[in-house]
Amino acid sequence: MLRLFNAATDEEIKSGLTSDIYYLRTKSIIEAKGVDKEVVAEVTVGSLPEGWKWGVFCGLDEVINLYAGLPVDVYSLPEGTIFPSRDARGYRIPQMAIVGKYGSFVSVETATVGLICQASGVATAAARVKKAAGGKTVFAFGIRRMHPAIAPMLDRSAYIGGFEGVSGVMGAKLLGIPPSGTMPHPLILIFGKQEAAWSAFHEVVDPSVPRIALVDTICDEKFEAIRAAELLGERLDGVRLDTPGSRRGDFLEIVKEVRWELDLRGYRHVKIYVSGGLNESSVSKLAAGPVDGFGVGTSVSNAPTIDFSLDLVEVEGKPVSKRGKYGGRKQAWRCPQCHEWVVAPWGLSGGDCPSCRVPLEPMLRKVVENGVPVAGRETPSVIRERVLNELEFHSLE
Ligand SMILES: [Zn+2]
Repeated sequence: MLRLFNAATDEEIKSGLTSDIYYLRTKSIIEAKGVDKEVVAEVTVGSLPEGWKWGVFCGLDEVINLYAGLPVDVYSLPEGTIFPSRDARGYRIPQMAIVGKYGSFVSVETATVGLICQASGVATAAARVKKAAGGKTVFAFGIRRMHPAIAPMLDRSAYIGGFEGVSGVMGAKLLGIPPSGTMPHPLILIFGKQEAAWSAFHEVVDPSVPRIALVDTICDEKFEAIRAAELLGERLDGVRLDTPGSRRGDFLEIVKEVRWELDLRGYRHVKIYVSGGLNESSVSKLAAGPVDGFGVGTSVSNAPTIDFSLDLVEVEGKPVSKRGKYGGRKQAWRCPQCHEWVVAPWGLSGGDCPSCRVPLEPMLRKVVENGVPVAGRETPSVIRERVLNELEFHSLE
């Protein structure tokens, strides 16, 4: 098949072609010797990257599609659940479990972990930026730093992490939201004059699209912002400052100055958006100032992966485990009030919350039964709401 881009097709992923070779060899050996067995495989993570205290579980939509048609059961946390890596006693919290003959899913083991490691890393980084933004609007602008084949996954994960919008056309389409964007520097440079570019944008682009003028291309942000406001008046929705790092000095001070000068001239309705190399820490600092929204790119699209691993914990009903892991199938229980987690052997109750004295709730639920998706297919906006609600229980420290 002619392949233009270095990306696997859906069929190639489902059939195991993106597997590590040793899993395929294991499958051949098991089949040749007739020793395939019923197992329980558990997904856990030892620790989270960057010293994060919690992660956002994301990528379940694709895992469900991966397992559709395979003769196994899959259990999972609801997508968008915020989890620590371990419970209060230090036991690893299972995020997913796969139950069935090992030979029937070993060829997609690599893909299983890959689908959740990257999506959860991006969703977690997005949720942290959203938290740092303190209620202000955040847009995902980071797909250009990653392979285009995964742009929809990156946009979905950022949206689920709590972002209000995404710049990617296909990502937005799959999310069922309009794509978000302003204007790029080349538009200004092609026209050669800011006013000509801003006017052309206003004339040509659909009226439903917010008029947000880029004001850092040729002159100083403050003077360009005033010129844009004087040109478009009431029709100007906002200005975007994408000030280059070499000119930034004190970005917050620049933003405050722009706000002051716009207000002074009666342009209080003009919002201020900032972008360019922003991360959790710079968003946190700028959120204290008169910024209305952030465009955040690479720090989210290039988020560290969450290193989930998939381990056998039960073979033919008996607990097993490799060195360093705890044997036996487990359930993750969580307090509905304070979100404290407790890991317990499968089949035993998690009991009551030590603090709140209310019954803990089992969090691993069946999402695929014998290859048929039975739960877990939720809309991105429902999953995103879960993340935003659960973020209330967590801080960035
Ligand atoms: Zn509690």
